[in-house]
Amino acid sequence: MISKIDLTNNKMVNKNLNKEKIIIGVDIGGTNTVIGIVDFNYNLLFEDSFPTLPNNGINTFVKRLVTRINEVFLIYENSYSLEGIGVAAPGVNYLSNTIESPANLNWGNVDFIEIMKNYFHTPISLINDANAAALGEQNFGKAKGMKNFIVLTLGTGLGAGIVVDGNLLYGENGFAGEIGHTIIEINGRQCNCGRNGCLETYVSATGIKKTVFNLLCQDNDKSELRNLNYEDLNSKQISEFAIHNDPIALKAFDYTAEILGKAMANMVAFFDPQAIILSGGLVNADNLLLEPTYKYFEKYLLNFYKGKVQILVSGFHNGEAAVLGACSFALKSISNAQIDHNIVIDND
Ligand SMILES: [Zn+2]
Repeated sequence: MISKIDLTNNKMVNKNLNKEKIIIGVDIGGTNTVIGIVDFNYNLLFEDSFPTLPNNGINTFVKRLVTRINEVFLIYENSYSLEGIGVAAPGVNYLSNTIESPANLNWGNVDFIEIMKNYFHTPISLINDANAAALGEQNFGKAKGMKNFIVLTLGTGLGAGIVVDGNLLYGENGFAGEIGHTIIEINGRQCNCGRNGCLETYVSATGIKKTVFNLLCQDNDKSELRNLNYEDLNSKQISEFAIHNDPIALKAFDYTAEILGKAMANMVAFFDPQAIILSGGLVNADNLLLEPTYKYFEKYLLNFYKGKVQILVSGFHNGEAAVLGACSFALKSISNAQIDHNIVIDND
């Protein structure tokens, strides 16, 4: 059996021949969803975000997403042809190509591609959000040229994309990298995955908020945070209070940093990476998290790794790495599909 690529099929007349080709990238987060338009040179032409509102259910979310994509593409459709949509989401199983019970979305199992096909004729691909961020860093960011690295995304939860020998680590069941759900405390904080004590219940935007609440109950320190409504509190406000030396906010960052630094030292023992790249609003907060994390990381790191692992902060903001990674994954999926489509099986 000989397989060959039939190049004559590539001579199809394309009605969009004169239009520049673009991909739409989507990064679905527990709090916000980012939409980006990327050309085939990976220039980010457009970026916007809207609240995910996951509790309204998957169908409502998809309708809002489709409306937003259509609104955005309307601006571009005269000059650009849409070649595909790359979606990054939590809980994506690489093997089943579906979203499986993401902890912070409460959607259960979702065949996202099938749902999206009801609205779009263009190819749609799906990738785990932290894996998309890792691809974004590998192709366009701080991990360029690296073969072994870990990207940690600190948002509503904690995601991890792990690259080993240049390739994303998917694992036997398509679910490698759920570091946010490693249990670090027996009978610890309740996690949205249904268990207790997961890393992301401490190290995430929601985790630091919970830490502030606990510290306000335990400590007698004077703190302006006591005057705020807990429900309205967010990690950005905690950062601003810490910048102004609020003792509770500073303690919350130190507590979070110690847990993160220890977890990162453990990750090094598993994967021996060249670098760990941190991303997310908490990380970009004026070195408040980074400096103590580095201190604790060095403290807990096994001796022979010391001085060998870089701790870097992503140069991207607001899910851009995941959007670019989702687009590059989509583009690769499209070109693979085209090659598959053009393969002629010769049984002679
Ligand atoms: Zn969990």
